[in-house]
Amino acid sequence: MFIGHYAPAAALKPLTQKVPLWHFFIAVQFLDYLWAAFILTGVEKARIVPGFMEASDLDLYFMPYTHSLAGALFWSASGAALYRLILNRGAGLPGAILIGAAIFSHWLADLIVHAKDLALYPGSGVKVGFGLWSSLLVSKGVELGLFLGGFILYLGGTRANGAMGKAAPFVVIAALIAIEVYSATGEPPADIKPFAALALISYTVIAALAAWLDATRSGRQR
Ligand SMILES: [Zn+2]
Repeated sequence: MFIGHYAPAAALKPLTQKVPLWHFFIAVQFLDYLWAAFILTGVEKARIVPGFMEASDLDLYFMPYTHSLAGALFWSASGAALYRLILNRGAGLPGAILIGAAIFSHWLADLIVHAKDLALYPGSGVKVGFGLWSSLLVSKGVELGLFLGGFILYLGGTRANGAMGKAAPFVVIAALIAIEVYSATGEPPADIKPFAALALISYTVIAALAAWLDATRSGRQR
């Protein structure tokens, strides 16, 4: 799951004026930011196995801290608390709860597509994953549907500030779909660490795009 992760970010944004869209974009990939950092430092492990699943070359055999159910709940609660106490006190408790929900949405979206590589808790032998990545067509169809659904809610819940605000969503949607197509059709990555570094850069560039998009649109008056 890649661009599908942004569906909850786009869908949640109209619910609050006090949380910028790019904060949601970081939140929905927060578990993967940690995962990439843990891969780069060797705390968690994965390897590239071309053709591992039809839609993924990643054998994610050890990521108990970031992608177990208990781990995801821990980071979601910690992220919400950090947001409430330090990062954006102005967003209040509702804003922090929405950020926590956005962080946890990552695990639910991964659950749909991953092989059984999501442990219940670190050390648990029970691993879950519905395995949609075994079909390129089905997994990409579901992901694209989620993604577009999230952005339709975003467009319905915000309004454009002038011509730029009308065009910007389509620029961002097109850019994200282009990145998804590139990553789905390109060569398998050579090694897991450069892949993790690239993920960090991509998520950050995409969050910057979201900041730009957010500046071109406002919440609807109720
Ligand atoms: Zn993930």
